[in-house]
Amino acid sequence: MKKFKLFILLFCMYGSFSYASEKQNLVLKKVDNNVWSIVGPLTNRDKENLGNNATFGFVVTDEGIVLIDSGGSFNGAKAIHEIIKTVSNKPVRYVINSGGQDHRWFGNDYFSSLGAKIISSEAAKKDHQTRSSSQWSMLETLIGAEGIKGTKEKFADIVFKADYKFTLGNIQFEVYHRGQAHTPGDAFIWLPQSKVMFTGDIVYTERMLGIGEQSKSKTWLASFDAMASHKPQHIVPGHGSPTTLNIAIKDTRDYIAHLRNAIAVFIEQGGDASDISKINQSKFNYLSNFDTLSGRNALKVYTELEWE
Ligand SMILES: [Zn+2]
Repeated sequence: MKKFKLFILLFCMYGSFSYASEKQNLVLKKVDNNVWSIVGPLTNRDKENLGNNATFGFVVTDEGIVLIDSGGSFNGAKAIHEIIKTVSNKPVRYVINSGGQDHRWFGNDYFSSLGAKIISSEAAKKDHQTRSSSQWSMLETLIGAEGIKGTKEKFADIVFKADYKFTLGNIQFEVYHRGQAHTPGDAFIWLPQSKVMFTGDIVYTERMLGIGEQSKSKTWLASFDAMASHKPQHIVPGHGSPTTLNIAIKDTRDYIAHLRNAIAVFIEQGGDASDISKINQSKFNYLSNFDTLSGRNALKVYTELEWE
């Protein structure tokens, strides 16, 4: 009888958890002892995902939880917290914003009001302050007034220029900003003891990365290399499931390098921006969002290379 009750209890817990994760399109995946990732959809922000169209992570220590990226809205942060609570009820003590995109920091206020301290690079904080209102309007259009409800702007409490190291519950955290990548303040978070790397938007896997107005492909490669030099055993990318360094190289580094090389040759041969669609990117058409992003990425790199 006891066993049966336990079975029912476990069934209910599992049942409610998978319902919650399916509803918000968030999937919990274990990376290492006490290290978890929360993988959001590879698509754009929408009413269903509440702006959580990215990968997040958290580490459970004896003294509380460190969360990497707070989610794309107040409701998105709440959904992330619900998933964390299926693993541990310890308080979230720190939130590290790995970059400037809305899904890295729009949930800050939710966790801050529960007592968490927010950490970001100086460059990321400046980026948050600069783009807050444009990110807000874009998000409201995509997730709707109901989805964005409750979201408040909250910038980092602790900022650092290049390196920030701390220990919580015997677990060491090293946060490094090595230049502009997908956004001006991107940072990667290294756990030297377990060799887990949270890369934020420095690494995209499974889907095509976006090189936007706020990105810089040349220093993105340098940031990637600084990240890779730690020889991580596990990569938790900014988009996509936990993976290996080799996959990160294939889906992110190789793509940016390919684009830069192909466009350098194109410019050398007198290619004009209006013919940019002639750049062959088919090697990467296995990545989702290829059709919507490949042309835009080529154009942005073209403009960059013209000025380099
Ligand atoms: Zn992102």
